[in-house]
Amino acid sequence: MSDIKKVKVLILGSGPAGYTAAIYAARADLRPVMYTGMEMGGQLTTTTEVENYPGFPEMIDGPKLMEDMRKQAERFDTEINFGVATSVDFSKRPFKVIVDESQEVEAEAVIIATGATAQYLGLESETRLKGNGVSGCATCDGFFYKGKDVAVVGGGDTAAEEATYLANLCKKVYMIVRRDEFRASKAMQNRVFKTKNIEILWNTNTMEVLGDKVVNGVLLKNNKTGEESTIKVDGFFLAIGHKPNTSIFKEYLQLDEAGYIKTIPGSSRTQVEGVFASGDVQDKIYRQAVTAAGSGCMAAIDAERWLGDQ
Ligand code: NDP
Repeated sequence: MSDIKKVKVLILGSGPAGYTAAIYAARADLRPVMYTGMEMGGQLTTTTEVENYPGFPEMIDGPKLMEDMRKQAERFDTEINFGVATSVDFSKRPFKVIVDESQEVEAEAVIIATGATAQYLGLESETRLKGNGVSGCATCDGFFYKGKDVAVVGGGDTAAEEATYLANLCKKVYMIVRRDEFRASKAMQNRVFKTKNIEILWNTNTMEVLGDKVVNGVLLKNNKTGEESTIKVDGFFLAIGHKPNTSIFKEYLQLDEAGYIKTIPGSSRTQVEGVFASGDVQDKIYRQAVTAAGSGCMAAIDAERWLGDQ
């Protein structure tokens, strides 16, 4: 282990929540130190055009938006380090966080902004076409498929919500559901059933996403009959769940049944005083860059006030 690093406000994660927390904490003179996590810039670095982040009337590239957020955080003297928190001890203060299994950090306050990871099927074709027709977020990318045919994989609330959202924009939406029933709530199911341009493909697995440079179809297999078929689509949306990046915190923080950190309603406070959570790691409903940024701001303000009370 190297020397213990002592910091006032430690921020874990470098998505919109982390960078916004850093900007606010730095401007409050809290000299924040950030560890970026494995994917510097977070989920937005895997998208292309972002059209729904206010302030960019044309659009901005996801990676560019995140680079600009990083620069803004650095301008106010946030110390940004590449590194992944590998374990924590929140049982006493100062809190202890181990980065990359080697660097021990002691922090008076911790802002967790480690995000969530969209689940993918794990097909080679899906990875290859990510950002070129394959997407993990209909609200982010649906607009690019206006008037086209698309497919959504999954049968939960997210899939139902994304399919109905896409149905408003697209000509036709296929829902690829692996069982003969939805997991989604009855209300969401009804919304899907009532939407004329959604076709549900029950008992269906995705074998391959088709296309050379961009998606042009999906190879499917009915898991009851074994029959293979192809649908022609321009977009392929994954909605098979997200995994919040919370495994190292579960011993200390309350998580909900899906693993998201529970915060005290209307705040970013967790049940451990001095530990705050913001962004997708505590939000399974909205999951937008702008809501993550807003909650990063809340975490920095909550941390500042809490430190001030100590
Ligand atoms: P869920 O875990 O609820 O659903 C995942 C869906 O994807 C299921 O239908 C599942 O199938 C399917 N699936 C999982 N893995 C695969 C795979 N490898 N291949 C094919 N299909 C697969 O995730 P959601 O993201 O939908 O929801 C997460 C939580 O967030 C839920 O509690 C949900 O209620 C909540 N939520 C609430 C919303 C709201 O209130 N407005 C909006 C969105 C989410 P199977 O059923 O067979 O396991």
